[in-house]
This record gives sequence, C-alpha cells and structure tokens, in this order.
Amino acid sequence: MTNEVVIVGAGLAGLCCARELHHRGIRFRLLDAADGVGGRVRTDVVDGFRLDRGFQVFLTSYPEAQKVLDYPALRLTPFRPGALVRAAGAFHTLTDPWRRPVAAVRSLLAPVGSLADKLRVARLRSRALTGSVADRFREPETTTLDALKGNGFSAAMIDRFFRPFLGGIFLEPELSTSSRMFQFVFRMFSVGEACLPAEGMEAIPRQLAAGLPPESIRLGACVEQVRPDAVRLDTGEELGARAVVVATEGPAAARLLGGDAPTAAQGVTCLYFAAPRPPVDQPVLVLNGEGRGPVNNLCVPTAVAPTYGPAGSSLVSATVLGTPPDEDRLRAEVREQLAVWFGSAVDDWRHLRTYRIPYALPRQVPPALAEPERPVRWQPGVYVCGDHRDNASINGSMVSGRRAAEAVAADLA
Ligand SMILES: Cc1cc2nc3c(=O)[nH]c(=O)nc-3n(C[C@H](O)[C@H](O)[C@H](O)COP(=O)(O)OP(=O)(O)OC[C@H]3O[C@@H](n4cnc5c(N)ncnc54)[C@H](O)[C@@H]3O)c2cc1C
Repeated sequence: MTNEVVIVGAGLAGLCCARELHHRGIRFRLLDAADGVGGRVRTDVVDGFRLDRGFQVFLTSYPEAQKVLDYPALRLTPFRPGALVRAAGAFHTLTDPWRRPVAAVRSLLAPVGSLADKLRVARLRSRALTGSVADRFREPETTTLDALKGNGFSAAMIDRFFRPFLGGIFLEPELSTSSRMFQFVFRMFSVGEACLPAEGMEAIPRQLAAGLPPESIRLGACVEQVRPDAVRLDTGEELGARAVVVATEGPAAARLLGGDAPTAAQGVTCLYFAAPRPPVDQPVLVLNGEGRGPVNNLCVPTAVAPTYGPAGSSLVSATVLGTPPDEDRLRAEVREQLAVWFGSAVDDWRHLRTYRIPYALPRQVPPALAEPERPVRWQPGVYVCGDHRDNASINGSMVSGRRAAEAVAADLA
C-alpha cells in the first residue's frame, strides 16, 4: 500500500512533522528504528528512579512547544532560577541572573562577578527581550565567548558562571557555539522557567505521539534506503510513498541522503546516583565554577520533581561534557570531585547508571546559524528535518518538523 508520506525518525522533529500532517488531513507512516518514540528525549525507570537519557530540561518559553504541547498535562515543576556556583572552595548562591540581574548583586559580588557584570547582564537582558525570537537569530553571528567578551564581561563572570552554565547547555566548555544560540537561550531563560515533567522528559514525545493515530507509528523499523517514492527497511521490505521525510539525527541523515547533512556533534556523559540524603535540598542547578574535575553541572532531580524517585531516596544527576572512554575511571573521578564538594556522604551514594551520548547535539559553531532555518526540501519528493536543520534544542527540532510538513503539504497540493 502506498502511504501519502513516510517519515523516518520519531524524535521530536518527526513527531511534530507527523502532527502537522495529521492536522492537515494528510496520511503518513512514522517509522523509527528504536523501541520507543522520542529519539534523544527518552527516560528509563531504574529501581524506581526516572533517569532521563542525559540530563536535560524543558523551557516553558519555547514558542513552538507552547503551540504543540499541553503543559498542564505534563505536570511541569520548575527549577529555581539562578544557580549554586562552586567557586574558590565554597558554594555561592546566584539568584535569578536572567530576570533580576541587579537584585542578584549582593549574593553575587564575591567571588562570581562584579557589579559591572550584573549591569552588563541587565543590558543584555533588555536587548534579548527587544523584538521577536526570530530577531535573536538575526544578531551578528560570532562565537558565544567572543560575544560575552564583546559585551565586556569579566573573566571571573565568564569562567565562574557563563562557562559552566552555557557549557552545560551547548555541551562544550569553549563556548564556541554560535552567539545566535546564546541570544536565543538568554531570551528563553529570561521569559520562562526551566522545568522537568513529572514523568520524565520522555513525557514530551509521548504526549505528541498520543495525538497521532496509533496505527501510524511503527517502531523497530530501521530504514536503510530512501527514494522519493519509497523507503527500504533493513529487512528488505519496501514501503511506497508520495513523499519521504528524513527526520533522523544528522549523521543518519547524511547516510540516508548522501550529500552534506552536518554530522559534527557535541557529546555528553551523565552519571546517576541514588543518595540516602540529598546533597542539595533545593531545586537548583549546581555549577562547577572552578574548572577543575570532570563534573560540569549537577542537580537533584527529586528535589525538583519528587516523582523522579521513590520516597525517602534522592536522585543525583552529574553531567560531564564529552564522552571520556574509561567509564570506571570517570566514575571514580566523579566521586572524588563530589566528595570534595559534599563530604563523606558521597560514599553512601549508589551508582545507578551512566549514559554516554556521543551524538547529543549537532555542533553549531559559526557560521552554522548564518541561515537560522536551513531548507527542508532536499530533492523532489524527499524532505529533511531535525535539530541540525534549525537549532540544537527541543524548540529547534519541533520547528523543523513543522516546516518539513508545511513544505510537503504545499508540494503535494
Ligand atoms: C543529553 C542531552 C541533553 C539535552 N538537553 C537539552 C535541553 O536541556 N534543552 C533542549 O531544548 N534541548 C536539549 N537537548 C537537545 C534535544 O533533545 C534535541 O535537539 C532534540 O531532541 C532532537 O530531536 P530530533 O527529532 O531532531 O532528533 P532525534 O531525537 O535524534 O530523533 C531522531 C530519530 O531518528 C531515528 N532514526 C535514526 N536513524 C534511523 C533509521 N535509519 N531508520 C529509522 N529511524 C532512525 C532515531 O532512532 C531517533 O528516534 C539535549 C539532548 C541531549 C542528548
């Protein structure tokens, strides 16, 4: 049977493409090689703990997410804005630098940044809030580090706050990611909340999938070849189509499409521990402002959403940028660093699981976002979407999926 459209990949981009086609009354088949929808946004339940496959947060301000998701049904609980910064051998509370940069002065002054830094954040904030979200992607493009320096931030403010904070978002500590991404992220943090859904991040793709006809999704279907009129699975089975949308991550898109789909990536490693007592009992992000030790950022998801673990136990999530090869050694080094931070209580932590994710984000170094929305038409009958087409975020992948569906609908009509 010929489907109207075959979508390859049921991550957020593929799901949002399917959602848009469904709303337009266009029949489709959504295929994924994995055993569940969600792509990079999956959650495992281990010993009663919800382990997102790599620490990630959902920002309520994402404009595309606001259009496609039912927020109340996700039962979102927010992080407290700001961070706890480890610097000069102690923790320092950084109250909301996005919304109340000047009020944060007292908590910040030493040793994280200067008064002038706070005023610079305030200036940046008022610029970030001017105009539309699209305007943020029209700012001159340089690296994030050069943009911070160009705004006059002190080395202390960059190294103790921006580097671990943005490094944890871009998954690279050099801050070589496009400054347009920084402008976007700054605006999103300034106007929304960073949250976790009660049932884990996978609740987001699950909600999108629940809005589609159940028979339209086929899991465990690995596509090996793409043509404008059909896809072939690794079993040899062919599925005919009037249009094919490749909604995979960049490297898989490059394999299926040939050509120059971008493949460079940022990798990350996330270690989860069960702790009898939380090392931090506030719903806050802990940042490494010292630049020493493998852990860039840490949080206690159960302090944000108690549904992330069984009663009486805390979940600790520690993020290491990159994917160091020796897992045992990494675990030992992480414990060592965290014992310095939190003392001998760390000895009682039980390691639950480590996620090594070599392809976590497409690398978006300038001029990656010179064209913020890259074309989704690949060749007649073949379309492409995914975060590598827009920007490396939940919002970017959702937008790209919708854009691909709009292009398919226009061409089929
Ligand atoms: C650890 C981590 C932390 C992150 N943190 C954040 C964050 O805090 N905030 C934020 O906004 N974003 C974050 N992101 C980024 C965000 O999750 C991604 O940008 C987004 O989920 C990408 O969605 P996608 O649909 O483009 O790709 P994917 O989710 O990669 O989906 C691609 C799908 O294609 C399938 N596929 C691949 N090849 C084939 C094939 N041959 N046949 C069939 N199916 C195939 C895969 O199985 C997969 O399901 C994070 C990502 C990671 C990994």
